[in-house]
Amino acid sequence: MFFIKNKETFDRELKKTRESFFSRIKSLFFRKSKLDTDFIDHIEEVLLSSDIGTKTTIKIIHNLEKRIQKEKYGGKIQELYQLLKEEIESLFKNIKNECLEKKIEEERKPYVIMMVGVNGVGKTTTIGKLAFFLKKKGFNLIIGAADTFRAAAINQLEIWSDTANVPLIKQHMYADPASVAYDTLQSAKSKKMDVVLIDTAGRLQNRIGLMEELAKISRVMKKVIAKAPHEIMLVLDASTGQNAFEQVKKFISFVKISSIILTKLEGTAKGGVVIGIMDQFQVPIKYIGIGEKIQDLKEFNGKKFIDSFFLPEPEIPI
Ligand code: GDP
Ligand code: GDP
Ligand code: MG
Repeated sequence: MFFIKNKETFDRELKKTRESFFSRIKSLFFRKSKLDTDFIDHIEEVLLSSDIGTKTTIKIIHNLEKRIQKEKYGGKIQELYQLLKEEIESLFKNIKNECLEKKIEEERKPYVIMMVGVNGVGKTTTIGKLAFFLKKKGFNLIIGAADTFRAAAINQLEIWSDTANVPLIKQHMYADPASVAYDTLQSAKSKKMDVVLIDTAGRLQNRIGLMEELAKISRVMKKVIAKAPHEIMLVLDASTGQNAFEQVKKFISFVKISSIILTKLEGTAKGGVVIGIMDQFQVPIKYIGIGEKIQDLKEFNGKKFIDSFFLPEPEIPI
């Protein structure tokens, strides 16, 4: 018998997910002392109900079964718990997740990031948080208000840019988003900024015209900076669970998504989407949103995330 006492790196934000996922896994592993086929079926059920997604769940179970056979596993149930954790971790091993700050520094300045996603996922809020985060790291930033569809969107971004103490380029409501992006990049270039953050209007994934507008914004940006946008970040709301998969599929078919930011992770038990999305799309999750305040953005690290996901309560021996 041993105790795992781990540093809880994603404690607060994963609380709900862990309580839901882990309590079921735990009761499973504690109820049984021997491996049988039922047991694997139960693990499968738990994974499926944790929003990991069918494809990824099947893959995990398949790999787990292969390992059990290959290693002639007949040992303790507790060791199986470790195998499961390793199999989930191994899903992330080929995903390249370069450090954003390093990329900003390596790039001939400025480094342009465009934020995309459906309505209400947290794009504008995330721009504010990211501006604050990067500013603290010593970068000079500028924000472009290319969501011109609602006046409130520009005002909201203005408040964030004030709070983060980062300049904002805006035009009037209904202005051409591509034109705002163009202005922002020109200003960034002449002011020798390190980073540009472009907000865009939320689009429904079934509105093809609006999706094509993203491609147009990208095209127009290239007139100012040939490699822009250097990064397109897709913002997803973790609490939408399986729906987030559909959003990724749709956006990927229109623009090249470089990374994902998963918001509202602190309030949901659907944190398993992290695992499924990374596995199925092989796109790195760069940051997670863990609240509505400007400092509520955290860098994502797959290994630490899984560690936290599996972290048993300290008093429980496994
Ligand atoms: P947009 O339409 O994609 O630009 O979304 P907004 O940035 O306007 O955010 C929509 C709502 O989600 C706002 O009420 C935000 O405060 C909220 N929100 C954004 N990120 C998070 C997060 O990480 N956690 C929580 N709890 N709320 C968030
Ligand atoms: P509805 O489905 O016809 O009611 O369309 P909406 O109310 O969503 O949009 C009304 C108008 O605004 C349409 O002409 C859209 O092309 C335009 N529009 C909607 N969303 C966006 C956007 O994100 N960017 C821009 N530039 N225009 C938009
Ligand atoms: Mg917005």
